[in-house]
Order: sequence, then C-alpha cells, then structure tokens
Amino acid sequence: MKPFSQFFIFLVIVLATSYIDAFTRNDFPEDFLFGAATSAYQWEGAADEDGRTPSVWDTFSHSYDTGNGDVACDGYHQYKEDVKLMADMGLEAFRFSISWTRLIPNGRGPINPKGLLFYKNLIKELRSHGIEPHVTLYHYDLPQSLEDEYGGWINRKIIEDFTAFADVCFREFGDDVKLWTTINEATIFAIASYGEGLTPPGHCSPNKFINCSTGNSSTEPYLAGHNMLLAHASSSKLYRLKYKSKQRGSIGLSIFAFGLSPYTNSKDDEIATQRAKDFLFGWMLKPLVFGDYPSEMKRTLGSRLPVFSEEESEQVKGSSDFVGIIHYTTFYVTNRASASIFPIMNQGFFKDMGVYMISTGNSSLFEWEATPWGLEGVLEHLKQSYNNPPIYILENGKPMKHDSMLQDTPRVEYIQGYIGAVLNAIKNGSDTRGYFVWSMIDVYELLSGYTTSFGMYYVNFSDPGRKRSPKLSASWYSGFLNGTIDVSSQDTIQLQRKFSGSSSF
Ligand code: BGC
Repeated sequence: MKPFSQFFIFLVIVLATSYIDAFTRNDFPEDFLFGAATSAYQWEGAADEDGRTPSVWDTFSHSYDTGNGDVACDGYHQYKEDVKLMADMGLEAFRFSISWTRLIPNGRGPINPKGLLFYKNLIKELRSHGIEPHVTLYHYDLPQSLEDEYGGWINRKIIEDFTAFADVCFREFGDDVKLWTTINEATIFAIASYGEGLTPPGHCSPNKFINCSTGNSSTEPYLAGHNMLLAHASSSKLYRLKYKSKQRGSIGLSIFAFGLSPYTNSKDDEIATQRAKDFLFGWMLKPLVFGDYPSEMKRTLGSRLPVFSEEESEQVKGSSDFVGIIHYTTFYVTNRASASIFPIMNQGFFKDMGVYMISTGNSSLFEWEATPWGLEGVLEHLKQSYNNPPIYILENGKPMKHDSMLQDTPRVEYIQGYIGAVLNAIKNGSDTRGYFVWSMIDVYELLSGYTTSFGMYYVNFSDPGRKRSPKLSASWYSGFLNGTIDVSSQDTIQLQRKFSGSSSF
C-alpha cells in the first residue's frame, strides 16, 4: 500500500476514534454480551430442502431481480464451519432466527423433524463452543400459506398461530436458549412491509413507484403493528406461565431506532423531534411500558389506530423483559411538511408523522453515516422516557459494496465508534446488556440483495461452496473481544498494517 493511503487511513481512524476515550472489552460488565447476527432467510439457504416451504420472503424475492435467499450463505449445511469461525473469533453470542416454515411447514400443525433437528444441532453446536444463542422468532418470513389464507399480520388470527409457533420453540429449544426476541424490528417491519411495499410481503396503496398487489398504506401499518404487539404479548404470557420458572430466560420485542436530533435549536424543531420519537419509538414502547399508544398518535390517526381493550392493554404492558434495538444511523428532524425517508413514497406512516427527516451526511440510504452520538441519544431517551429498560443492541453495522474490499477499515471505525457510544451510555446509567454486529458474515441483504453487505466475513456468492474469508473487521472484533485491542490506541493501525498482506478474496 502507498505511504499516502496508509497515512490517510491512519488519520481517518484517529479522527473517528477521537470521539471516544480509550477502552477495552474489560471496561464493560463481565456479563455484557458481545455478539453478531444473521437471520434465517438471509443466511440458511436450502430453501426447498428437507421439508421447508415458502415464506412471504421467498415469494417477494422471486418477484424482483435483487436475487434471492435460495442458497444465500448455505448456513443450513455450513453451520458447523460458521460456529467454528465464531468461536475462533471469540464471539460471546450469536443472534439468528428460526424459519417458521422449516419448523412448521404449513404455518400451523405438524412439526418438521428435519427442521427441528437443524435448530437443535445449531443450538447445541453454539453451546458446546460457549456461544450464547439469541433467538429471534420472526424475521420477515411469514409462512406464505398464512398470508394466502388470511392476510398474515393484518388479521388477528396471526396472534394464535404465532403463539403456537412460539410455544413449539420454547418447548423444544428453551432449555438451551435464554434470550428470545419475538419480532425483529417490529416498527419498521410494519411500516416498510405494510405501508411502503419495500419488504415482504410488500403491501402498499396504489402509487406510481411500486406495484404492490394489495395494501392500504394509511391503515395496514397500524393494524399489523397492533397485531404484532398482541402476538408478542400473548407469546410472552405463555412463556411466563409455562416455561420461565424452569427455563429462566428473557423475552423481548425489538424496534428499529434511528437516532433523531433536532435540525436547529428552534422550539419548532424540538417539538418535531419529540413527535418523531413518539411515532418511531413510542408507537410500540408506550404500549409495552405503559399499556397504551402515545396520545400524539391517537390524536393524529383517530380511528385508523386500533384500540386496546382493557385486558389487552394489561397483557401488553410489561410484556417485554428487555427492548431490542436495531440501530444504523441518525436523522435530523425539522418541522416541515413531511417526506418519506424512503423517498419513493409519501403516504402512510411518514406522512402521518408529519416531520421532515434530513440525513446526517451525504449518504444514500445504503451508505449511512456513522453517528454514535445518535445511538447514545436513543439510549438516553429510553432511559428517561421508558423507565430505563434492559436493552440489547441487536443490530448495528455498516453496509459496503459487496465486492469492495476485505480491508474494511470504514466498518472497523464504525463499529468501534458505536461500541464506544454504548460504553458511554452505560456509564450514564443505561441498562444496556449486549451489542450485536450486523452481520456475522455477508448475507442475502433485505433491501439490496447481494450488491451491498455488512459481514465481518466475506462470502463469495459466485462460488458454489460459498467460501468465507475474514475481513479486517473480523480480526478487529476478535482482538477487541480477546482483549488484545485497546480502542483509540495504535492497536487498530498495527492490525490494519498486518492485514494489508492478505487482502485478496
Ligand atoms: C434487518 C436485517 C437487514 C439489515 C440491513 C435490518 O433492519 O433486520 O434483516 O439485513 O437491516 O439492511
């Protein structure tokens, strides 16, 4: 590498880390969990093997040309090798999700023995390497049969089917799983899947940008969100009644949380930011912590926002032992007529929220800015407004062009900046208990297929064997976890220098 580029990378790292004081793994509580994540459809592949049937994600991806998860990383066959990579890396926890249609192919009813065996083996493999499994029950992959039968999450029937699926998971895996997330990023899932048509099952009102086969962007996100809260609460109730005393695990819901900061210090922008927080966080967190939706949302949405009965409100309130946070970047908020941050549409949730969100950098949606201060703001807000709940950061990471480089220095800067932010938040009293990098390895990406990736391991998707190669971020995370890297010292630069020899795929 040319001396100038080395100097440039040095400078970038020094500038990025000047935000934080030096720290090591040992500055975090011993029982804090550092992990990395994937999800079933994005990692497993083997889409039609051993009895698995299609989910809405299979159907969705096959109708666009962004590729699909038919093979993905082939995790279904290569899970042992991947667990070995995790163990070599010193990973303390692995977050993955269970494919509902691999375990219960018809959505309800008989269990698929091969699906059951796969997850038992995976969990056993993790445990035998000392890696804590964090299991997400639902990550965008509703059984297609349930979508066809009654419309999936927009129908209350989902509550019973989801709870029955959760029951099987608790019963079969619960002796070895202590951390359960019911639904991945429930907020943005409801918005993007039922309002914007961007993620499976791809519902939206007719518009000139996306051709959704069905949907109503002004009602469905709220209906789906409501049923998610009820399905989460019903599963959590079941867990507490039937399993918790013996299995001693925790169960939580996860939300997507942009950092949000007023664009100017005007009163108007401050009010707009509070309104955005009510819509983007309070929508789910107010019911979970206090038993009802934010009054701001009730006022704006009127009869479009479903109502909790007294009994439902009691059931939802307190149903999360922890809050899962999915965080990638921060937006400035200003009090101007709304526009969707998914700029293709401006109907539904973002229109209702009625504020304007401005990117913190020049970045596109796929190349967002590292804004560790934004995450600190989210954690502080949750501490102050929601009784300081236990928190797991379940996803945080940086997208880069898939084939760009193994030497992913910008990702290293990003991750270390955010880990520093988590440490600051803990020092300020946040009850944050874990941090997971998205993603453990390159996966089939939700919005971009195989063009961008977040992995700490590169996966060659043209290779039938899906060869994995460590990126700089994997070495960095490993060094951080085993205590040989002291962030903000010269360690990262040394690592980067040593790594430059092995930067081919
Ligand atoms: C989703 C993942 C996705 C990641 C990156 C998250 O919000 O949970 O499935 O791959 O974002 O886009």
